[in-house]
Amino acid sequence: MKRPEISFEFFPPRNIEATFRLWDTVQALAPLKPNFVSVTYGAGGTTRELTREVVATLHKHSGLRVAAHLTCVDATRAETLAIAEQFRDAGVKDIVALRGDPPKGASGFTPHPEGFGSSVELIEALRETGDFNIRVGAYPDVHPEAANAAADVEWLKRKLDAGASEALTQFFFEAETFFRFRDACAKAGIEKQIVPGILPIENWKGARRFAEACGTKVPAWVIEAFEAAERDGRQDLLATAICTELCTELLENDVDKLHFYTLNRPELTRDVCLALGIAPETTLENVA
Ligand code: FAD
Repeated sequence: MKRPEISFEFFPPRNIEATFRLWDTVQALAPLKPNFVSVTYGAGGTTRELTREVVATLHKHSGLRVAAHLTCVDATRAETLAIAEQFRDAGVKDIVALRGDPPKGASGFTPHPEGFGSSVELIEALRETGDFNIRVGAYPDVHPEAANAAADVEWLKRKLDAGASEALTQFFFEAETFFRFRDACAKAGIEKQIVPGILPIENWKGARRFAEACGTKVPAWVIEAFEAAERDGRQDLLATAICTELCTELLENDVDKLHFYTLNRPELTRDVCLALGIAPETTLENVA
């Protein structure tokens, strides 16, 4: 099996301890030579300044290519583009452009009166600057707000046609879900790459809540397996096995990029990568 390109997603830490954990995670995963790492932008735009700082710091100190997430929520067009300019001035040219989730408690997305009305508008504006490589989100299990699966794929096509280079998917549990989605995208005339988003499950209850919120379907066999593993205290083994199996099936079927949701914890992502044969690359001067 050819070595896939991998990327890792992090979120901005909210306190000193979490900052150390993020840095430890970056240090642990960097030797796996990701193609890029990305930093999320808190729901409702809540981590705007933190995201900017983390992106700039990782870019400066980690030696990794960094992509900044950017959403349309709760900001004027001018404010959103000013943040993109700050990313560019810090040397960051990769942006994951999203409409974004509304702040906690809000029922749905309401554009700021002077803000971008949709992800497509944001992508068009970023593309016009000519400064960025833009990625977008995609939903193999169908986004909860989509009218139906076909409309969801059509909307993804509009995002890619507006100027994005590839799509990163929401996490899903079965390779078949991704293959069905990839086929639907191809049928709709999408030629750009759809990169599967992979969640190694560190915390089963949290992952289930997250899946429910974002429309990811959880198969009955996964629920049963985690409930049994919880009783025996072997969740990590199960999570590594399930995730490795999923990635293997994807890689055996023409997938050559994987985007890992690390949740700022390196262990499972690293174990899955190692199980897939993605070995750390050590530079010669580090070999004693
Ligand atoms: P869009 O794709 O623009 O819209 C979501 C869905 O709604 C579409 O799939 C489509 O079916 C429908 N839709 C929307 N507008 C229209 C329209 N005008 N016409 C027809 N259909 C429409 N959230 C954050 O807050 N911060 C992050 O950093 C973040 N990172 C993410 C990274 C990835 C890889 C993914 C997959 C998601 C991420 N999210 C993040 C979550 C994301 O913000 C939510 O899923 C949000 O609800 C949708 O954002 P989007 O840009 O994918 O939306």
